[in-house]
Order: sequence, then structure tokens, then C-alpha cells
Amino acid sequence: MIPLCDAHAHLADARVFPQHQALLEECRRHGMERVLVNAAQVSEWGNVMALMQREGVLGALGVHPFWPEQWDDTAERELLAHLQDPALRGRIVAIGEIGLDFWNGRDNARRQIEALARQLQIAREFHLPVCLHNRKSWEDFFGIVRDFGWNELRGYCHNFIAGTDIARRALDLGLHLSFNKPLLNPDARKVRASAAYAPLDRLLTETDSPDILPSPIHVSDILAALAQIRNLPVDAFASQIVLNFQSLFEAPLISREEVLH
Ligand SMILES: [Zn+2]
Repeated sequence: MIPLCDAHAHLADARVFPQHQALLEECRRHGMERVLVNAAQVSEWGNVMALMQREGVLGALGVHPFWPEQWDDTAERELLAHLQDPALRGRIVAIGEIGLDFWNGRDNARRQIEALARQLQIAREFHLPVCLHNRKSWEDFFGIVRDFGWNELRGYCHNFIAGTDIARRALDLGLHLSFNKPLLNPDARKVRASAAYAPLDRLLTETDSPDILPSPIHVSDILAALAQIRNLPVDAFASQIVLNFQSLFEAPLISREEVLH
């Protein structure tokens, strides 16, 4: 069976959490090696931590740019307590989902920027990668990183849809690019160019389930599309994605010799 990794799913979301047992069972039947469950709101953190106890499930805690008002002193204290909890070590593998979203304007830009900046600092303090959601905000995002004086950042750009100019700047920082449904559109020239451009060891696959694709198992479609763009056999390419996932979020479990380079 071809091993699958979903780098970005919202199984802690109240819409799907009640069905997580069946969903994870379905994932296992389809060869899912890893699912990284991202939080969007503080109220989901408990569900993320419950899911992290399941085999193959890892978690990210954070506050999404749709809800910057949820990022306050209480949320920060709670996040720090979870990150320092020895029982959760190695299971909370990222800070996410965080970022800037100016799709609907910049009314709360200041709030979003403050929430992102603080969560980026916490990720750095704990040596954790970040899951980034940036929409109509790349210049602001790169500006924050520059203002910190950082020239490298571990993490990934979730549902990457930008062209190679933004891809190059993200990759130069050290970020991975995670691809989703937009890649399946044969006319999506910008995103497909970025998928062809990024180094093989910086690619990830995801579903954002239930929002963009209904279930993590649909990550197999993304994997097939990416393999085709890179002109590689799906099974070998799948091992590369597993390795990428593990080297970003955990100690690699398969050796480099087993995958293409
Ligand atoms: Zn998401």
C-alpha cells in the first residue's frame, strides 16, 4: 500500500471530531502513515490533544488568523503549559494554524500581526516548526520575519497556491510547501509551477479536511498529481513525502537510501 501523509487536517473541528473514530479507521485502511491535526481555535486544543493519543496522529496548537481575538494572555499561558507538559512532548509537533489573512480586508490587521508574531516567537523558543496560513499577506509576513532579524524559519506554507517568486522566498527561509486541491486543476499554472520548482525534500501533501477536501484519504489525489508533475513513480515519491514529513515534524524513521534523490 502506498504510504500517505496529510500534513494539514482539522479533525479536531466540532463538525468532524465526533466521527474521528471512523475517520481514523478509514485513514488506516487507506495506508495513512501520519495525519497532522491542526487547531484553528482555542476551543479545539483539547480535541487536538485527545487525537494525538491515537497512532499516527500528531498535533499542532495555535490560533488561526480568522480568530486573532482568541489570542490573549490566557491563551498564551495555556499554550505554554501544554508545550511544557512532559506527557505531551513529541506529540505537539508544530504551532499552527497561524498566519495572516487579509482576504476580507485589513480591519483587524494589527490584531492578526500581534497574534502571529507572538506565536512565531513561541515556536522558536520551543524549537517547533510552524503551520502557516497566509492569504493576500505575503509581504506583511516576510516583513515580520525580517523585523525579527531571522533569516531562517522551520515550518510549512499550508495550501500553497502562489507562484515561484513567493515559493523561492519561502524556500529561502527554509520553509516547506504543502499542496492541496488547487494543484489538481490542470489550468492552475502558478501553483503547478511552484510544485515543479521546489526541491523534492521540501514538498508536503495535505487536505485541510473537512474544509478543502472531505477526508484525509483524498491526500492520495494530491500525491498522484505531485508525482506526475515531478515525473516520478507514485510509490517512490510517496516515500519521499513520508521522509519530508518526518524530518520536519519528528525524527526520521526511514533512511535516506530508501527514497529518491
Ligand atoms: Zn487549515
